[in-house]
Amino acid sequence: MSMMLVSVFDTKSYDREYLMGAQKGAQISWRFHEFRLSEECVSVAQGAEAVCVFVNDRVDRPCLAALAGLNIRLVLLRCAGFNNVDLDAADELGVAVVRVPAYSPHSVAEHTIGLLLTLNRKIHRAYNRVREMNFSLGGLVGFDLFGKTVGVVGTGKIGRIASQLFRGFGMDVLLCDPVPDQTWAKSMGARYVPFEVLLESSDIVSLHAPLLPDTIGMLNVSTIALMKKGVVIVNTSRGKLIDSGALIQALKSGHVGGVALDVYEEEEGVFFEDLSGEVLADDELARLLSFPNVLITSHQAFLTREALSEISRVTIENLLAFQRGAPFLEGTQVERNGPTG
Ligand code: NAD
Repeated sequence: MSMMLVSVFDTKSYDREYLMGAQKGAQISWRFHEFRLSEECVSVAQGAEAVCVFVNDRVDRPCLAALAGLNIRLVLLRCAGFNNVDLDAADELGVAVVRVPAYSPHSVAEHTIGLLLTLNRKIHRAYNRVREMNFSLGGLVGFDLFGKTVGVVGTGKIGRIASQLFRGFGMDVLLCDPVPDQTWAKSMGARYVPFEVLLESSDIVSLHAPLLPDTIGMLNVSTIALMKKGVVIVNTSRGKLIDSGALIQALKSGHVGGVALDVYEEEEGVFFEDLSGEVLADDELARLLSFPNVLITSHQAFLTREALSEISRVTIENLLAFQRGAPFLEGTQVERNGPTG
């Protein structure tokens, strides 16, 4: 087999380490770029057989057309979500798109719990306080998760594991999903309810749905108004599921009691970057960061050793399959009329 050249975009040190570590003698030459892929920079992929991208690369029609113009017919997503790829254009241009559908749903579900516990028990604030030799407890009161009701929106791979973990705390778990699995819910001691009922009844709402035209802004002015006063919202799915302006208003009024986010509506160009010496241009993000009851991580829910190993393994196996003209690993090819992810 001849050497395959792959242009890897939005690369961080851990991407390099894990991709090269999983290569195991395969004839792959990686060309790592720190910037994200978009139409403007496709030319750097000249000579490559494939591009490898992440959640915030802009793989739209002009970008795909430019890739096809360089005879690049494979986009390898190092993630599960594919809302950043124009699948119609990819199909028309004959560019295959593959993803890593389930690198470690545990990584994201466990981070969800980590965020909730940190926010509720104010562990981030306590950590900083103690480091300053301030051993006081004022302002650190949280609540027991035991006996509270959590609404899990989306019961796919991650939502199911999150539900199991919530049940482990002795919580009542309400579920909603357009494709419910009643047998699983029963085995879990949880139950499906309509979205509105979930919002009205939950002390905590945890989002695990994909970003689709009908889920964009699923938490907005009118749906947030249905939620219990003091509700805690956790989003480790996709930022655009929540209308940030509506969320800020609800935090200001006190209707929403706390928010933990691993994703943000306009995270592109901000999350994953070190902007510590810069002026933050996003006023909504700046406002969100100013609330003591908002906790934000920078899309790191997936970042475990297990997930990175699996992302690299699947990416390399698909690349080698493409080279051999063999089928991609089952369930990894994203097609325009295929299942959502
Ligand atoms: P999945 O495809 O296994 O499950 C998604 C579920 O959501 C499906 O059961 C689907 O029927 C359901 N759904 C679709 N529309 C819905 C709606 N309107 N209301 C309720 N449910 C709806 O996906 P997954 O692997 O569990 O991923 C869940 C989310 O987590 C996705 O948005 C994904 O992009 C995101 N994610 C985030 C990270 C991270 O690092 N933060 C990592 C991986 C995945």
